[in-house]
Amino acid sequence: MMHSFELGPIRPPSEAYSLLIRATRNCPWNRCKFCHTYKGQQFQLRSVAEIKQDIQTAKALHDRIKELSWKSGYGGRLKEVAGMVLSNPPDDASRNVALWLYAGGESAFLQDANSLIMKNDELAEVIRFLKETFPGINRITSYARSKTAARKKLAELKELGEAGLSRLHIGLESGYDPLLQYMDKGVTAAEHIKAGRNVVESGISLSEYVILGLGGKKMWREHAIETARVLNQIAPDFIRVRTLSINQRMPLFNEIENGNFIRATDEEILEEERRLIEHLECHSTYVSDHITNLLQEIEGKLPADKPKMLASIDRFQALPPEEKANFIVGRRVGIYTELDELSDLRRHQLAERFINRLSQGTNEIDDQTIYTLMEGYI
Ligand code: SF4
Repeated sequence: MMHSFELGPIRPPSEAYSLLIRATRNCPWNRCKFCHTYKGQQFQLRSVAEIKQDIQTAKALHDRIKELSWKSGYGGRLKEVAGMVLSNPPDDASRNVALWLYAGGESAFLQDANSLIMKNDELAEVIRFLKETFPGINRITSYARSKTAARKKLAELKELGEAGLSRLHIGLESGYDPLLQYMDKGVTAAEHIKAGRNVVESGISLSEYVILGLGGKKMWREHAIETARVLNQIAPDFIRVRTLSINQRMPLFNEIENGNFIRATDEEILEEERRLIEHLECHSTYVSDHITNLLQEIEGKLPADKPKMLASIDRFQALPPEEKANFIVGRRVGIYTELDELSDLRRHQLAERFINRLSQGTNEIDDQTIYTLMEGYI
């Protein structure tokens, strides 16, 4: 019999190797202008029985891999057989279990957009069942909306933490109220702070996600400064940044088409990131784990690494215009991963050829071409 279980569409980059268990379907809010992930999909709660059934199916897949390991002479070690399954997985669920086991089988992520919306005792029961079924899992994380986390009682969050919930990933996006309102985030800066403080006080680890470029050309300064202000009050364990990218399924696409939202360029976004970092005073780890970010090397522990992080921005900003363009284009087509690679002649020449071809010999690249490159690459 084919074993399979349900998977949602996304997980955070840091959960790429986690076992994915779909606790709810889609997003109960689903209105944010910059988000396309669940558009057109109805939010649904799932019953505890249904979720447990999926966990049991994952266990059956795990057991099958273990059995194959014994039969093929790997002495019950999972990695080798998981690797074989990965080379030709029969379905997405098998692929997920194999990838998870290949990476050590230590973490799980509860999908979709806001698991905290489940009844607290039901979510705690799911987490406990997951831990009982897979005692080797030592990290269980999930997405949550600030709106929901702000309404949770501290005792409820503590119950989830005691059940085994290790971390929540919250999309802060911005701390600037007019921007949150314009983007229809459905949350105020004050609610973000309340939610974040609740999670931190409960002892559950917290990642807050910020979208660089979300303020566009109009609100970038306020976006940077107010986001830092809100983060300073929350002091999350992790601040994770990613850069605004657009596709046609986002409501923001139409706002851009009709001129209501004007996108910031890579250089402007870097200046925005500088303001954000300059204003951050909290003790948090700043992570740039998204391909959309121009300078992914801007990472570190705040406040100690702030000078180093700002120095990366200085370094880029001090480049002559042709070198900036070379890096931006090279970065957006996947030639460069970090600024140091700009001195690699082969990469540099490759980026030059791209610029020459894209500009039809003029070497002038417009902003729209850069956006198209970025969105085509990710
Ligand atoms: S709350 Fe999250 S998942 Fe839902 S629409 Fe907004 S960004 Fe998308």
